[in-house]
Amino acid sequence: PAALVTVLFHLGEMATATQSLDQGTFEALGAELGYQISVVSPEDEDRELLESFDIDLDAEERSDADSLMPRPPVVTVMGHVDHGKTKLLDAIRSTDVVESEHGGITQHIGAYQVKVDHDGTPRAVTFIDTPGHEAFTAMRARGTKVTDIAILVVAADDGVMPQTVEAINHAQAADVPIVVAVNKVDKEEANPDKIRGQLTEYGLVPEEYGGDVMFVDVSAKNRQGMPELLEAVLLTADAALDLSANPNTEARGVAIEANLDRGRGAVATMLVERGTLHVGDAVVVGSAHGRVRAMFDENGRNVEEATPSRPVQVLGLTSVPRAGDSFLVASDDRTARQIADKRAAAERQAQLAARRGTTLEDFNRMLEEGKVDTLNLIIKGDVSGAVEALEDSLLKIDVGEDVQLRVIHRGVGAVTQNDVNLATVDNAVIIAFNVRPAERVQELANSEGVEIKYYTVIYRALEDIEQAMKGMLKPIY
Ligand code: GDP
Repeated sequence: PAALVTVLFHLGEMATATQSLDQGTFEALGAELGYQISVVSPEDEDRELLESFDIDLDAEERSDADSLMPRPPVVTVMGHVDHGKTKLLDAIRSTDVVESEHGGITQHIGAYQVKVDHDGTPRAVTFIDTPGHEAFTAMRARGTKVTDIAILVVAADDGVMPQTVEAINHAQAADVPIVVAVNKVDKEEANPDKIRGQLTEYGLVPEEYGGDVMFVDVSAKNRQGMPELLEAVLLTADAALDLSANPNTEARGVAIEANLDRGRGAVATMLVERGTLHVGDAVVVGSAHGRVRAMFDENGRNVEEATPSRPVQVLGLTSVPRAGDSFLVASDDRTARQIADKRAAAERQAQLAARRGTTLEDFNRMLEEGKVDTLNLIIKGDVSGAVEALEDSLLKIDVGEDVQLRVIHRGVGAVTQNDVNLATVDNAVIIAFNVRPAERVQELANSEGVEIKYYTVIYRALEDIEQAMKGMLKPIY
């Protein structure tokens, strides 16, 4: 880096080793040194990373083409606040015949599947059960399009509202067909025709007006109109989409939700998009990895395998992935870990590159405003067993669903300058277990406002972190 900074200096660019530069500057730098620079997207990089492990996504897609089978549609419910998204998701769920037959206990795992009777044939429909379209947006931002169809809920006693418009824009931008649920028709002041008229202005023209969008009047409260709504979803799917996947191969998909659970460790709800996920599979989810120890469905029942469009809660990951992270099954544990580690390293580099003076002050402000819910940690220790044990125990701390703990980096050895740099970027606290900082690192930490906490007893570290996380729940002003 120092040599490059010098060359840049001679080119008239005053840069530091961790500074972002524009493409033109990189090209000038390359030309000066006799290299051709090509700018690669993170997606391309990840593809290359996977190829280095003999995983060729394009080739898999081509070979899947011969073994495609129909798969259930994946549906997201969107709409303005209070228009009845939550209630509708509950009402739809209660229509499932299988659930009541087998007497499972409803679990909210972030997604569920219901069986629908379609002209005498049972068909499954998967619902993403994270009301609001945040999940939808976050996942789209990461390039994973999980939703096939959006149900737009509009309250018939209210009408089109800002978030209704936002939801329409999201769905249209993602090219996702919309089915409109005109909700609360049980109310006296309900005016379903008005809703139809209003939505026409946004390009959603009801079939009965000569358009191609299905509108269904429902009452989520009275659980009326659910079969019709589900039927509309299936008809729209059949008319507009060709939903298929190869079930007879290694699974790939996306994490919909993930959290830490006391006792169970990292828990992630994964939606299978292709292939079949089995208990025992070695998986990589974003930069998390592990072996599928157990899987549960939305009724809390153990399942051994999950086919395309099936959401399952997965236990066995060593850390918590992010919602929207894609997952894939690797040939063995070692490969899974290596891919995850390489991704984590790439993420850290990207973060370093994108560094724009995030300060601890910003972090504290965001904390007070409730914009931060994750405590980032870097763990350094004298032996790997201790680091792992510490990480394990830390990840098992449970202070409720609203606060999370994320270990962004771990390692054996002294606290280094690199650790401090990472901590600055991610507003992380460094946990040093039986190790001291390398030379001049403590000064750097002081000047960057990074906290390094030293421990010789695991239990003390756990106590402090638990306190900190509780503090995050109830900030003291
Ligand atoms: P969300 O914010 O979109 O998830 O909306 P909720 O599902 O929480 O519903 C908001 C409010 O509307 C709650 O008080 C519900 O009981 C009520 N609600 C939802 N659906 C209906 C319905 O079909 N009829 C009536 N009368 N009230 C409903």
